Amino acid sequence: MSEQERKKIILSSIQPTGTFTLGNYIGAVSRWGKLQDEFDCIYSVADMHAITVRQDPAQLRKRTIESYALLIACGIDPKRSIVFIQSHAGTHAELNWILACSTQFGELSRMTQFKDKSAKHPDDINAGLFTYPVLMAADILAYNADLVPIGEDQRQHLELARNIAQRFNGKYGDFFTIPEAYIPEVGAKITSLQDPTKKMSKSDENPNACIFILDEPDVIIRKFKRAVTDSDSIVRYSEDKPGISNLMSIYSAVTGKNIPDIEREFDGKGYGDFKLAVGEAVADNLKPVREEFARLMADKAYLKECYMNGAKAALSISGKVAAKAYHKVGFVDAR
Ligand code: ATP
Ligand code: MG
Repeated sequence: MSEQERKKIILSSIQPTGTFTLGNYIGAVSRWGKLQDEFDCIYSVADMHAITVRQDPAQLRKRTIESYALLIACGIDPKRSIVFIQSHAGTHAELNWILACSTQFGELSRMTQFKDKSAKHPDDINAGLFTYPVLMAADILAYNADLVPIGEDQRQHLELARNIAQRFNGKYGDFFTIPEAYIPEVGAKITSLQDPTKKMSKSDENPNACIFILDEPDVIIRKFKRAVTDSDSIVRYSEDKPGISNLMSIYSAVTGKNIPDIEREFDGKGYGDFKLAVGEAVADNLKPVREEFARLMADKAYLKECYMNGAKAALSISGKVAAKAYHKVGFVDAR
């Protein structure tokens, strides 16, 4: 197949650190299924990344399976895409080492996620948390991915992955594809419902700050009613109204309506009406996901079959890339 005929490779991952939030859904996962027509897609549950913060082992195992089921429930078809669990592909850890030797201490020190998460877990600033972006680069480069759909918070890590790939290519000759970020225009950074200056994050301790995609409709509506907004009552998108602007982005993402239309729709109405409309629209949007998730979780054998097939497919691609990278750096061939 010629280069022009080859479909671009899309790759993305999500950590099983908790149930997916509306931020994960709007900024990332809800888009992943839609990309399957146009691209060759590879998606994973990043359990190796999850242990950069302390996890209860039994809980992690459970959440990994749940996250896997959620990916499918959100529209990813394991027959059309490669969907796997990161730790099942040992090649990521192999490449991680090679790439770590092409990564500078200084550039890792500048990563804002490292700074944020070390401030949040001051008693466990482990080396894995520090080198997280290298493993993320390995996740991407192991498949020579062209595009990486992510939210705004991962832009810095993706930029670093590009730099690592370029540095490796500079030292050893062109090898890795330089990946590009694929960030949505609306919803790339959904913020916390309790503090609109902070991103919504599934490891947030305050459950009212996040909508979880498995929340029941009444819980979703209640959380939106309590969302922190400014003191006036005009539904208008503006930088000095971060709370209401966040709700407008959410409403826009789930209904497909644009911001000017939303402003017109709620002209003359107060925040109460608007918050209720957002809550209802989100609850409606998530209903099929919740139903499909329940169906999948009742069929563990099917899930296992899917992730075992996913691991095989992931290893078949990344094994070849890792073996070539080993050869490039001068290791004696063993396979
Ligand atoms: P954690 O707190 O454990 O880091 P997280 O909510 O940040 O969890 P990740 O698994 O790190 O979730 O990220 C999965 C995907 O979701 C990434 O592509 C990330 O960019 C995207 N994402 C995370 N939070 C948001 C958000 N608030 N808005 C939009 N996209 C987001
Ligand atoms: Mg994160």
